[in-house]
Amino acid sequence: MTMVFPAEHGGAEQSQGTLLCTAVEEIARHCASSALMLIIQAVGSYPLLHGGSKELLDRVLPRIVAERELAAYLVSEPGAGSDVGNIRTTAVKDGSHYVISGTKCFSTNGPIASFYTVLARTSENGRNGLTFFLVERDTPGFSVGKIEKKLGQRGSKTSEMYLDEVRVPVGNLLGEENKGFNLAMKDFDMSRPAIGAQALGIAEGLSTRCFATPGREKPSARPSVSTR
Ligand SMILES: Cc1cc2nc3c(=O)[nH]c(=O)nc-3n(C[C@H](O)[C@H](O)[C@H](O)COP(=O)(O)OP(=O)(O)OC[C@H]3O[C@@H](n4cnc5c(N)ncnc54)[C@H](O)[C@@H]3O)c2cc1C
Repeated sequence: MTMVFPAEHGGAEQSQGTLLCTAVEEIARHCASSALMLIIQAVGSYPLLHGGSKELLDRVLPRIVAERELAAYLVSEPGAGSDVGNIRTTAVKDGSHYVISGTKCFSTNGPIASFYTVLARTSENGRNGLTFFLVERDTPGFSVGKIEKKLGQRGSKTSEMYLDEVRVPVGNLLGEENKGFNLAMKDFDMSRPAIGAQALGIAEGLSTRCFATPGREKPSARPSVSTR
């Protein structure tokens, strides 16, 4: 899991993106859920690595890198999937803290992560009013909602996450205030090729198994599901 971090944070020397895709493709040949774990560790840690203060990195990264605690990425909401600029979760400054309230959905690792990078609205300015925060699992007001019943990748838990007036110190702000959309897009630039690599690995694993099965050297002429 540490290979997704730059060398200065205990990871690998190679290009992070290339290494992530290569590893994900290989793992997905055997288990799509395990490959997804690697992707989400990279996706969830990205705003922290690229936006966290030195103090925050020194405190949190050893737990993720050395102790292998999991990260999750809370961007999607019931009304904000492809349209990240429509996020409704709010973060309101209150003295030395921000108070975060809202509902996130499709959160991979939601029920099992220790650290969550949460994108919330800090101003009513569309995509230019969003900011990332680091939220730790045991913070009061933060809870796991419905766990999705999925058709596949069931080894990976995907859930709703509720934030009910969750207070985080201002030091947990990641990157610049109201610049979270840009950070999210850079994160997607890193992760989208990895999702492609995962799909490729799944297809390679499937075809290898199909053609390795005795008597199935060629695709069957008979449909596997009868239409009658
Ligand atoms: C298994 C799984 C794990 C996930 N893990 C995470 C996670 O860890 N963290 C997280 O934040 N999110 C996660 N997601 C959410 C994922 O990022 C969203 O599902 C994705 O962004 C799409 O959003 P949506 O489901 O709301 O679909 P929508 O945005 O509603 O899109 C529905 C359809 O409309 C199309 N569409 C949307 N907008 C347009 C447009 N402007 N023009 C033309 N077509 C359009 C889309 O291509 C799609 O086909 C996960 C999703 C799944 C299924």
